[in-house]
Amino acid sequence: MTNPTSNVAYETHEHDVLVIGAGGAGLRAAIEASALGLKVGLVCKSLLGKAHTVMAEGGCAASMGYVDSADGWKTHFKDTMHGGKFLNNFRMAQLHAQEAPERIRELERWGAVFDRTPDGKISQRPFGGHTYRRLCHVGDHTGLEIIRTLQDKGVHSGLDVYMEATITDLLKDGDRVSGAFGYWRESGRFVVFKAKAVILATGGIGRAYKITSNSWEYSGDGDAMAYRAGAELMDMEFIQFHPTGMVWPNGVRGLLVTEAVRGEGGRLYNALGERFMEKVDPKRMELSTRDIVSKAINKEVKEGRGSPHGGVFLDISHRGAEYILKKLPGMYRQLLEFADVDITKGPMEIGPTTHYTMGGVRVEAESTMTKVPGLFAAGEVAAGMHGANRLGGNSLSDLLVFGRRAGLGAYEYIKANNPSTNLSEEVIAAAAKRVTKCFDSDSGENPYTIHKELQDMMQAKVGIVRTEAELHEAIEALKGFRARVANVSVTGSRQFNPGWHLAIELENMLTCAEAVARCALQRTESRGGHTREDHPEYHPHWSTVNSVASQDQDGSMNVGEIPLLPMPEELKALCEGEVGIPKPAA
Ligand SMILES: Cc1cc2nc3c(=O)[nH]c(=O)nc-3n(C[C@H](O)[C@H](O)[C@H](O)COP(=O)(O)OP(=O)(O)OC[C@H]3O[C@@H](n4cnc5c(N)ncnc54)[C@H](O)[C@@H]3O)c2cc1C
Repeated sequence: MTNPTSNVAYETHEHDVLVIGAGGAGLRAAIEASALGLKVGLVCKSLLGKAHTVMAEGGCAASMGYVDSADGWKTHFKDTMHGGKFLNNFRMAQLHAQEAPERIRELERWGAVFDRTPDGKISQRPFGGHTYRRLCHVGDHTGLEIIRTLQDKGVHSGLDVYMEATITDLLKDGDRVSGAFGYWRESGRFVVFKAKAVILATGGIGRAYKITSNSWEYSGDGDAMAYRAGAELMDMEFIQFHPTGMVWPNGVRGLLVTEAVRGEGGRLYNALGERFMEKVDPKRMELSTRDIVSKAINKEVKEGRGSPHGGVFLDISHRGAEYILKKLPGMYRQLLEFADVDITKGPMEIGPTTHYTMGGVRVEAESTMTKVPGLFAAGEVAAGMHGANRLGGNSLSDLLVFGRRAGLGAYEYIKANNPSTNLSEEVIAAAAKRVTKCFDSDSGENPYTIHKELQDMMQAKVGIVRTEAELHEAIEALKGFRARVANVSVTGSRQFNPGWHLAIELENMLTCAEAVARCALQRTESRGGHTREDHPEYHPHWSTVNSVASQDQDGSMNVGEIPLLPMPEELKALCEGEVGIPKPAA
């Protein structure tokens, strides 16, 4: 079989800044860089507007104080740190809390229309872990309104948008990132982007798991590309399992039931009809944080009080059809049309679904630059902002705040360094070779089989509750998967070939999966989105460090720890309880 790369042909585009990913973080970064006079290219794997951000239902957290006037950035900061169990990069949490309100007002100036209070202010709803009603929302389609607004603004800012182009590798000139390599999904033809700075905004890694609210695009490409380019991955053990994904019917398995359902009064029941959150967090009940609710559901199911299909029941029908149709119209329609479940009449059967990656690429708070000069990361692909657990609503505000900062950071970097966009032919040929080696053999395995087995393994052994023995088994299994992926075979040509796309993504998922498993093994405690059955408590040592994974020269993964940045006394004073070892929920 001939290797289709024997003559590497590619087209080239040149920009000051290349933004990889066109969700909220990517769009906001691109708008900022463009406003600062830079020539910006924006690439996305699918169509513009079809990103995770568009799926966000519940809302965007910002302490506007429109509904609860006592709210302010200090309380938002405190809530975020408590939610993150104090592993957050405090500076990111501070910047986020301080800047989120202005990012919302800016969206309004750009044309976003949020739901209003009777006196005409932006309405804000309650959400788990937030002291005050804080989530600015548009019914249950907040993400859609945010993306629509950013897209309009972006398109009119003169961005060059490249849709249905998948980036497979970052390209470097010496130690600096100076471009990226990818292919057009439809034709399979190669494309090279030269850029003085690159911003990653590629979202999460959910597709490494079997049950997930994430869509096909979230194969951890950004994390893995950054890792291969020399950046560090941080806190990868912290995966948020959203407590309310549909477990039945099968066709909607994993589909997210927005937290807004609980925000609007939805109640959780076990098979005995008990509101089991009374036992776990009687004060906050269903509005406790996601990790606590997920583990509570897991316990009910494990102890035999689950629903017929391995979940529990979530019921909002007591609020009445009129209220539900007004507040949760999208959720109502989605479940009626796709699952034949009428939430105005009875409960849903739900359980935890892999939802959000708190870990990701380690960045510097102010500029979002990674360890690799010229490489920036913002949004879900970046680590630090949410620590061990993200509060609902804090992602949309994160991507607005740090998307903007990434655009600004790239601008400052370019201004200070005036970097070149040199790319050698060798670097480009190596990138082409890496993604086409799967065409070399026709005796290897099919990527779909490996992907399914990887997802099953991650769900079973690196899921919501972990043990040392299972994590060792997972790491061994991952070695086996790596050997199989190295020998994967793809047939046909590069022209619209989903098997080939998956073979490339599999390597990225494996890197992310290995980082999750190794960091989870290292952290011998339970905290936020990481639960160890054999180490169920917080541990003082692990209160002081973040986990990091980086690539060794021989290609193997190094996992270690780095001390948390010391928090200034005035910020410590804002956080109730002993900083580092949060009190259990009262
Ligand atoms: C169902 C659902 C509901 C949610 N609800 C809320 C909510 O109410 N409030 C909240 O705060 N958060 C919510 N979240 C989380 C939030 O939506 C995401 O964390 C956030 O949108 C991530 O934004 P992002 O810009 O980082 O990435 P995304 O919006 O995920 O965009 C990633 C982009 O990267 C592109 N990309 C990926 N890989 C490549 C590649 N190799 N080459 C080129 N392009 C690539 C994709 O095509 C896409 O354009 C929800 C998530 C889900 C799944």
